Amino acid sequence: MSDVIERVAALPPLRDVLAKHELWAQKSLGQNFLLDLNLTRRIAREGSASGETIVEVGPGPGGLTRALFLEGATHVIAIERDHRALPALEEIAAAAQGRLHVIEGDALATDYRELVGSDGGRIIANLPYNVATPLLTGWLTPPDWPAWWRSLTLMFQKEVAERIVAEPGSKAYGRLAVLAQWRCHAHILFEVPPRAFLPPPKVTSAVVRLEPRPDAVKVAPSALEAVTASAFGQRRKMLRQSLKQAFRQPEAVLEACGIAPTRRAEEIPVAGFLDLARIYEELERSSS
Ligand code: SAM
Repeated sequence: MSDVIERVAALPPLRDVLAKHELWAQKSLGQNFLLDLNLTRRIAREGSASGETIVEVGPGPGGLTRALFLEGATHVIAIERDHRALPALEEIAAAAQGRLHVIEGDALATDYRELVGSDGGRIIANLPYNVATPLLTGWLTPPDWPAWWRSLTLMFQKEVAERIVAEPGSKAYGRLAVLAQWRCHAHILFEVPPRAFLPPPKVTSAVVRLEPRPDAVKVAPSALEAVTASAFGQRRKMLRQSLKQAFRQPEAVLEACGIAPTRRAEEIPVAGFLDLARIYEELERSSS
């Protein structure tokens, strides 16, 4: 293993790699690269666990990938959509001596369970911001739960990170917070300023850590989605009005859940939405 660390540490500087392979960042692929090894090593340390498979989404030129090996990763699967990044990643794969598997593909269309196998793993990524939310939503609603992953350590735009960890009563609290906190403990680890990236994005970023809750209530994601879409679709309105899209008789449903019909979506804790989703599911089942 120390051999792998030495070989990865001896790779040429990332700036040279970008120049050599003409890897100019493309906006359409959400490319903002991290070149600061202190930062990438910090993310790697927060997100890895020794001996476990790490799935890295969007490795790009491989700054974070290198950091994973420097922090002792033993098996990394990296999924990258931009074929221009593959030669740079192959150089890391050679140094990693069989511990890095690079897959050219779309992380949104990847069958992770098949890729990772029954032992599962962890996801670490400096996410492409244009598909960050759909990627997270997909990982939170895999075909079967508990998920195949044991943790997600992900860089988002700070505004999205705040929506993931938001508490009821706050402006950022909405569908994403309910979905994420239903199944996970989620918190922001630290913020990252724009100047840490090449090119710098317009906004501050933040690294979020999510871990599955062992006690997550069982309900169909589609039922929760229907209820939160209805409630937050008109977040200024009282629930007896905004829930009309999801229920024929919202007042009766709210009463059954012990929620005052005059309350608004952003005041309702996650548990309240789960109660509503369970009733939605039952009504759907009985009407079909
Ligand atoms: N990990 C690198 C770093 O930290 O410097 C690059 C991060 S950059 C923000 C996002 C990366 O995701 C880019 O390399 C981009 O090409 C890749 N990407 C964008 N969309 C993707 C997708 N659907 N599937 C896989 N990779 C994708």
